[in-house]
Amino acid sequence: MRLILLGAPGAGKGTQAEVICNALNIPAISTGNILREAKANKTALGLEAASYMDSGKLVPDEVVINILKERLKEDDCKDGFILDGFPRTVPQAEALDKMGVVIDRVVDIEVPDEKIMARLSGRRVCEKCGSSYHVEYKPTKVEGVCDRCGGKTVQRKDDSPEIIKDRLEVYHAQTEPLKDYYKKTGKLVIVEGQEEVADTSALTLKAVEA
Ligand code: ADP
Ligand code: ZN
Repeated sequence: MRLILLGAPGAGKGTQAEVICNALNIPAISTGNILREAKANKTALGLEAASYMDSGKLVPDEVVINILKERLKEDDCKDGFILDGFPRTVPQAEALDKMGVVIDRVVDIEVPDEKIMARLSGRRVCEKCGSSYHVEYKPTKVEGVCDRCGGKTVQRKDDSPEIIKDRLEVYHAQTEPLKDYYKKTGKLVIVEGQEEVADTSALTLKAVEA
C-alpha cells in the first residue's frame, strides 16, 4: 500500500502516519523529520533548509524531491509506505508520478484554521524521538519530559503564532490544490479531524482499509 497523507500543518498527519504504520507495518516517511534531522546535524542540506523552515516557507521542490527519491530507494519501502508531508506542491506530485510511483490512496485530514492555531501554538515535541504532545490536550506526565523516551520536550521554532499564520497561508496557496490533483485520479478520501485523536484514527484506518 502506497499512501499519501495530506492536510494543513497541525492537522495531525504525523500522528495518523504512526497509526497506519503500526496497523499496516509500512514505514512512515516525513520529509519534515528528515529535514529537521539534517538541520540538527548541521549537514549541507540542513543548513540550506534551515532558513526556509524557520520562517514557515517551503524548502525548494528540487531539494525535497531529491530527498524523497533517495529515501524511497531504501529496502523498507519495497512493500509500501506512507508519505507524511510530501508532496506539498503540484510540481512535487508531478515528480512522484514521473518517478513511476503509483499511489493507492490519498487521505486528506481536514481541520479548520482556527483549530490549527490552537493546536500548533500549544504543541511540544521531543528533541530526541520526535514524539508530539500538547500542553493542554496531550500533556506529558512530567512537564518538559517525553513520556516515551525521557528526552526534553520543546516548542518548534516554526510553531510561534506569526509563523503558524505564514505556514497556513503557504498551505492554502501551494498544498491545498493537491486535493483537486488527487480527486481527479479518484484516490482522494477526506477524513474530518475529530476532537479525540482516537476518533480520527478510527476514521483514518477505515479510509485506508476500505
Ligand atoms: P508541518 O507541521 O508544517 O506539517 P513538517 O514537519 O512536515 O511540518 O515540515 C516542516 C517544514 O519542513 C515545512 O514548513 C517546510 O519548510 C519543510 N518541508 C517539509 N516537507 C516539505 C516538502 N514536501 N516541501 C517543501 N518543504 C517541506
Ligand atoms: Zn522522546
